[in-house]
Amino acid sequence: MICVFGRLTNLSAGDECQRYLEYLQRTLVREGSEEFLQGQKQWFEKNREAIAQEYSTKLKGSGLATSVMTYSAQGEYDDFFSRQIFEPLLAKVLAIASNMGVSPERPVRFANSPDVAPSAAALPSTSEHVLFAGLGTSAFCNYWAKVFSAAIAEVSTLSKKKRQSTPELIKKLRAGPVIMDAARLAGRYALSESLVGYGKLEQRTELLPVRVLLLNAMEVFVVAHEVAHFVAHEEFADTAGIRPGSTSKQHEMECDAFALAVCTEYGVREKNAFAFQLIGPLLFFYALRMSERAITVLSGKDRSPSESHPTNEERFRFALDFLKSAGASAHILKSVTFALDLAMIIGSHVHLIMEEIKSRDKDEPVPANDGEREA
Ligand SMILES: [Zn+2]
Repeated sequence: MICVFGRLTNLSAGDECQRYLEYLQRTLVREGSEEFLQGQKQWFEKNREAIAQEYSTKLKGSGLATSVMTYSAQGEYDDFFSRQIFEPLLAKVLAIASNMGVSPERPVRFANSPDVAPSAAALPSTSEHVLFAGLGTSAFCNYWAKVFSAAIAEVSTLSKKKRQSTPELIKKLRAGPVIMDAARLAGRYALSESLVGYGKLEQRTELLPVRVLLLNAMEVFVVAHEVAHFVAHEEFADTAGIRPGSTSKQHEMECDAFALAVCTEYGVREKNAFAFQLIGPLLFFYALRMSERAITVLSGKDRSPSESHPTNEERFRFALDFLKSAGASAHILKSVTFALDLAMIIGSHVHLIMEEIKSRDKDEPVPANDGEREA
């Protein structure tokens, strides 16, 4: 979401380029997270065989087991999992963009971002663009996709009539673990502005396919947004991609519009309704907004809005307007509204829980989970 490297760079080929990439990756490492990243790396090396074994039993035929065993890190900050997630997504986004006739002319390379925040970053270059994305993004999307997919599953057990009643939906969600899970995520985010290393969040195995679809729909949007920055930089190199007469905020919205269009097409191609109906990006912005509200409540301070980026609330509204103006059918709007209603029930409860925590003894910690590792 953030174009941290605002200027055009001339990335040279070979070793020098790799060294420069690592230098940039180092600038993305947040103070205090170095140890965690090292731990992740050591954990991967130590468990390589066990991971491959798990892939070969659970995801037979995916080729992932071989990928784990043959993986060789591209530099100090490379990460197997991020490469597995984002490299193929980037290729798909570029193919869709090219089909839409709005793709970057220069090649785009993926590099793992060691930043633990949910945002990805774009480094436009006069030779080869670099897209940085990593665990910060995938962890944030994965945990929230877990919460939202669990919410959808819980209310799906209600009768059709009850599903149309907000009090019934509230009752059902309050009876399950979803709201407390969401509060824990928002509370944790309020502490570190990241969900990396949050730990285990239990979910029934049968919910995995739905969660993965939602997760993909969120991630494809994030990747496509950064690709939009590359396209814009090629056109308006002197103004960091910003169209003459336009502002940085408008530019971000334009990148969102591009990403939403890509997301829709991705949904059609991959048979992913969460992408096609833009539920992925909408819930992504909603989760960010919920997390930031938790910061405001717990810190007791309103943060000053960014000068370069629209707020998550604005981006959420923009995505919703985009969906409507794109002529979404009544059927799609109904299903989007339903997903957002669930999100809002969760959001309003999380807000109340945060206010309750704030009003309690200030020494009491934010609800935490058991800190088990989640791969
Ligand atoms: Zn951006």
